[in-house]
Amino acid sequence: MIHGENIPLARLTTLKVGGPALHVIECASVDDVREAVAFAREQHLPLLPLGEGSNVLASDEGFPGVVLRMTIPGIVAEESDDSVTLVCGAGVPWDSVVREAANRALWGIENLAGIPGTTGAAPVQNIGAYGMELKQTLAWVDAFDTHTGEITRIENSECDFGYRDSRFKHETNLIIISVALTLSRHGSPQTGYSDLARLASEGNDLSTPALIGEAVRAVRALKFPDLTVVGTAGSFFKNPILTGDQHLHLAAKYGAVPSFPVEGGVKIPLAFVLDRVLNLKGHEQGNVSLFGNQPLVLVAQSGATASEVDAFADMIAVRVKEATGISINREVRHFPER
Ligand SMILES: Cc1cc2nc3c(=O)[nH]c(=O)nc-3n(C[C@H](O)[C@H](O)[C@H](O)COP(=O)(O)OP(=O)(O)OC[C@H]3O[C@@H](n4cnc5c(N)ncnc54)[C@H](O)[C@@H]3O)c2cc1C
Repeated sequence: MIHGENIPLARLTTLKVGGPALHVIECASVDDVREAVAFAREQHLPLLPLGEGSNVLASDEGFPGVVLRMTIPGIVAEESDDSVTLVCGAGVPWDSVVREAANRALWGIENLAGIPGTTGAAPVQNIGAYGMELKQTLAWVDAFDTHTGEITRIENSECDFGYRDSRFKHETNLIIISVALTLSRHGSPQTGYSDLARLASEGNDLSTPALIGEAVRAVRALKFPDLTVVGTAGSFFKNPILTGDQHLHLAAKYGAVPSFPVEGGVKIPLAFVLDRVLNLKGHEQGNVSLFGNQPLVLVAQSGATASEVDAFADMIAVRVKEATGISINREVRHFPER
């Protein structure tokens, strides 16, 4: 267990903004988690889990409590005839799990290749990309409940998964310590989303999970800025879900708007609105901008502050609302919650 004090959150998050965390405790085992929780309780301090910080906007004021940095390692495979369940420590980088599955020729998470972050955080927002979501393969998670001090197994059906949502977003007493994914030995490529459909139509071989994973990583390398150079948390907003009428109204005004049927309506790419309706691709204000290759991605240059990012994101939401009447929601979470 590594315990640091007054560590800038800018160093622990991919947006690279945020003031100091009073305590940061790295937890590589369940015992470490217990100790960190006990320490926070003794000191009467709030505690929040953090993985690789790739989906948070850390406050300029920092966090006057304990950041539990999850690093529990390990992937164990439980084999059966048609499937294999990978039981993963919450600190394992997500893409290592995707690579492990690909090495074993297992299907179910190949389209989720290249998403940054830890495996423990993946259920929190039910990560998704290229037509696939974590909830499709997640069997269960084990979570340490800070209220009771017990480890509780939560089955998929109890996770309340939604679009970039789950109960873990709302019940912050649940610290995920391991994640089990049931993957199939007999899958088939899911290439319905445009980038993968294009690659398939161009004759690229997408016949195995490993080949799809590599293709997805190559596509993503063009869509996202280099995390080692600038600050970003990927897509800053969720794609909006519209009613059929709202979608027709938008299409009547701005021409064909791409859409994907989802529960409760149609999901449209916010990038379309930011680019084609508002012409905001690459829009820059101070140290913050929308990425030129994918306007849903917000980029924080060196020197940016959390309040600058906040104000920029608010301005984008207002512009979208004024032009289209659509209210958009952030995918990136405030750390701590406001
Ligand atoms: C370049 C880039 C591209 C991205 N692309 C995608 C994408 O395609 N699809 C997608 O869905 N996301 C994407 N993201 C967002 C991000 O990668 C995911 O949300 C990822 O799962 C976050 O993992 P993390 O370890 O960094 O979590 P963090 O950012 O550290 O934490 C996120 C939230 O989860 C909580 N949390 C963290 N660990 C735990 C735990 N063990 N138990 C309970 N709660 C916990 C935190 O308190 C916080 O509220 C992208 C981000 C970047 C920077």
